[in-house]
Amino acid sequence: MTEKKRNPDWTRDEHLVALDYYIDNRDDYFSPTSAGVEELAANISRVAKVLGLTGLDTFRNPSGVSMKLLNFRSRDPQHDTKGLPQGNKLEQILWDEFAEDPVALKKMVENILNVTSAAMANGVPVLPDDDATEASEGQLLTRLHRYRERNAAIVKRKKASFFRKHGHLCCEARGFDFLKVYGERGAGFIECHHTKPVSELNAGETTKLADLVLLCANCHRMVHVARPWWTLEELFASINQDEES
Ligand SMILES: [Zn+2]
Ligand SMILES: [Zn+2]
Repeated sequence: MTEKKRNPDWTRDEHLVALDYYIDNRDDYFSPTSAGVEELAANISRVAKVLGLTGLDTFRNPSGVSMKLLNFRSRDPQHDTKGLPQGNKLEQILWDEFAEDPVALKKMVENILNVTSAAMANGVPVLPDDDATEASEGQLLTRLHRYRERNAAIVKRKKASFFRKHGHLCCEARGFDFLKVYGERGAGFIECHHTKPVSELNAGETTKLADLVLLCANCHRMVHVARPWWTLEELFASINQDEES
C-alpha cells in the first residue's frame, strides 16, 4: 500500500507572510492567477525552502496560497463573506496576535523576507538541540535571535565589559553568580540574551553590546520556554523577591 503523500503544514513564518498580504488586500478575491497571489506564493515558497520544507508539485502553489488567504477571510470579523472556514487553529491564533497591529506585522514580515533572502544567499544558521520555544514571530526570527546571542565574539566582549564594570559576572535579573555557587568550574560562565524585540530583528545588522544582557541559565530558559517570549521587564517583574537567593 502506498502512503498518501501530502504537503507539510504551514509554519508560523509562512502564515505571517500570508496574513500581512491578506490585510493589505482585504477585499480581493485572491484569484490564484492574479499577479499579487503569484508573487506571494513565490515569497512563501522561498520562506518554506529556507526552513527546509519540501513537498509535492502543488507545494505552496498559488491555489494553495489563495486558499490560505480565504481561510484568513473566514477569521476576519470585518468581512461578511464567509471565506473558507476549514482552516487550522494557527490562523485564528495569529489573527488574534497580529491582525490588530498591521504596521508592526508589516515590519516583521519585511524582516522575515529579508532574513529569507540573506539565508538563500549565505545559508541559514542551523541550531540543533535548541530548547527554546519558537517565538511568536516564527522560526526564522527565532533562529536569528538564538544565533546572535550565541555569537562567541560578541558574547566574549559583553562578558569582558560587564566584568570591567562590576568586578564579577552574574545574572542581571537575579544576581546569580556561577563562580560563587559552583567554584572554579563556574568561572566565566553566564549566558547572553539578545534584548531587541524579535519582530525587529533583521539580516545584516551587527549586534551591539547594549543589545545583550547577562542571564543565568534558569532565567534565560524561562524567557524562551513559552510564547510569547518574555521581555526583560516581564522577567524582572516575575521574580519573587522572597525567593531570591
Ligand atoms: Zn535569549
Ligand atoms: Zn538568573
